[in-house]
Amino acid sequence: MELIRVKIQTTTARDSYYRDFVAPTSQPASAGVSSVKKQNVSLYQFFAPGGVLSRTHPAYEFRRGQLQMAQAVEQALEEKRHLIVEAGTGTGKTLAYLVPVIRSGKRVIISTGTKNLQEQLFHKDIPFLEQALFPDGEGRLNVCYMKGRNNYLCRKKLYDLTGQPVLSGLEEIEHYRAIAAWENTTQTGDRAELAELPEASALWHKIDARSDACIGQKCSSWDKCFITEMHRRAMESDIIIVNHHLFFADLSIKQQAEYAPDAGILPEVGAVIFDEAHELEDVAGSYFGVSVSNGRVEELCRDVEGSLQRNHMLSAAISGAVKSLRERAMFFFALLPQGEGRFSFENRRDFLEENGDEFLALQQSFTRLNSELENLPSKPEEVFNFARRAQELQVQFGFLMESEDVNTVFWIERRRGGRDKLNVYLQATPIDVAPILKTCLFDKLECAVLTSATLAVGGGFEYMRRRLGLEHTRESVLPSHFDYESQALLYVPPDLPDPRTPQFAAKAAGRIRRLLEITRGRAFVLFTSYAQMNDVYQRLLGELDFPMLLQGDAPKSALLEEFRLTPNAVLFATSSFWQGVDVQGEQLSCVIIDRLPFAVPSDPVVAARVKSIDAEGGNAFFQYQVPAAVITLKQGFGRLIRSLHDRGLLVLLDNRILKKQYGRVFVESLPNYARTTELRAVEEWFGVEQEERGF
Ligand code: SF4
Repeated sequence: MELIRVKIQTTTARDSYYRDFVAPTSQPASAGVSSVKKQNVSLYQFFAPGGVLSRTHPAYEFRRGQLQMAQAVEQALEEKRHLIVEAGTGTGKTLAYLVPVIRSGKRVIISTGTKNLQEQLFHKDIPFLEQALFPDGEGRLNVCYMKGRNNYLCRKKLYDLTGQPVLSGLEEIEHYRAIAAWENTTQTGDRAELAELPEASALWHKIDARSDACIGQKCSSWDKCFITEMHRRAMESDIIIVNHHLFFADLSIKQQAEYAPDAGILPEVGAVIFDEAHELEDVAGSYFGVSVSNGRVEELCRDVEGSLQRNHMLSAAISGAVKSLRERAMFFFALLPQGEGRFSFENRRDFLEENGDEFLALQQSFTRLNSELENLPSKPEEVFNFARRAQELQVQFGFLMESEDVNTVFWIERRRGGRDKLNVYLQATPIDVAPILKTCLFDKLECAVLTSATLAVGGGFEYMRRRLGLEHTRESVLPSHFDYESQALLYVPPDLPDPRTPQFAAKAAGRIRRLLEITRGRAFVLFTSYAQMNDVYQRLLGELDFPMLLQGDAPKSALLEEFRLTPNAVLFATSSFWQGVDVQGEQLSCVIIDRLPFAVPSDPVVAARVKSIDAEGGNAFFQYQVPAAVITLKQGFGRLIRSLHDRGLLVLLDNRILKKQYGRVFVESLPNYARTTELRAVEEWFGVEQEERGF
């Protein structure tokens, strides 16, 4: 096979996402792989003391778990088996799967839960391995890094906007100028290159490359489209780095298209590695469900009007059809049961009996718009796309209101947007994604590797296997690289009231205050609800000698940065800080959690899952709610010890872990932290630390 040389470019924008110089082939390149095999570097020779890694990595330590994981991944790839492996923080798991992937010669997708990990793999781990394995530059890898379509610019939409009086306000005009100038130079079209563009830019939403308005090969910009280019790169890469959202969006498109060869954007691969795999059920659930919203209908109306106006084709008939759809949709969404947040829509039948005429009128207005669009003579290509969208919405509304599918929960979500906007979503989510994932993913893939620091419950994977539909899989829980017993002390106060009682907040605030005095701040105080967070924060405001930061006062990344830079800071936060947050060193010396993180039982998806497991004769509490909370608690506590040198205090203010029978499952699932119920032991533990460190 012809060798594919890779040019490492370090200065261009293109370098941010694609570091390969590819030959015109759709076959995966495997030159790098054969080179590794030729060198005959075994996994042991790579990871063991005195091996390649020890000679090339400045902070090398031998990690038994890392070598074991690499061997397990290699075996799974060779034997075409699925593997589920829990590898705690500090294992070095990215290298443990990358080396066997490179040695395997297979084209592999690596899917991560967070953008941070995607970036770490692409910008740090893979370049490091290339340098270590191919120091002379021969036989390097073709690697690409893909994000969701809405991260990329749609050139056609940008060109269509040019000269149109549809920009609203000075800010949008400024953004437009910046994007138009950037479009001339960017190689990737990825908005991440445009640092000055605000996250919530309304203009970006109008010109991103979401599939909704894409006309594919009929587009005049097809040849230089960033999505086409991304697709081409993926076809020519050995390793494709995506995130779970992109992966499952692609999988659901393929499933809907019944696996037609040109469906989706990700190519066929020999294996998929899912890192941060504890998130798979939630992400998969959202992509195999159906969701319509008032915003989506409005977007269709706006796109139809905008496009036809531009093309001087906006007839009175079409204007009338759009107007009618707008009115019908507004009326229908207003009729839906009232409520804020997420709530179940169980009584759809009663609703339809009462409001069937309005639903029918909405469906008819989709039909009317569709036929008006189809009747347009010599229509531009995008009109076919609008007709398809109208039809798709009509079918989805039909499913959401009339389906009797027993494996689906139907629910409504109301969220306030900017400028007093009320977003209403009508949703359908699979109650159990296991049968879907089994058929669409695991039965079709030769090898899937699922890994995370938090997958096992009580030392086993039954929960994950059951939730994800994984059968016939190898399993491994790796020994930790950290000495948790000497690095962390877990304190559970036995005297606090049950966190479900009204007395809890005041008592908890008092204990948090005392604990923060002992640790001298330097803490995350993590809550399971905003209400509890705000309540405790207000009680402690002005009572602490340390700077207090509150989630919501600034974007997450800015808060984290402030926490890192502010001596003795204390951060009050909720679920979004329970995972994917990494603060190493003494700055974070304490993590306090208010209560066992059971999912809100009234959440419509959780409630439906509980009901379904119980109805099948299972015990939802022990089979679903407790294991899910165990995984979340392990994630939350996992914020504290991020390196061999970290030490600190973990606090769980919820003593049900000691008093209830199910508490044992939590205790048995946590790492072997030193444990105490005595405040005095906490003081002593920190006293020892203070002496040692000369505080
Ligand atoms: S092919 Fe689709 S995404 Fe690409 S420029 Fe054309 S319309 Fe936009």
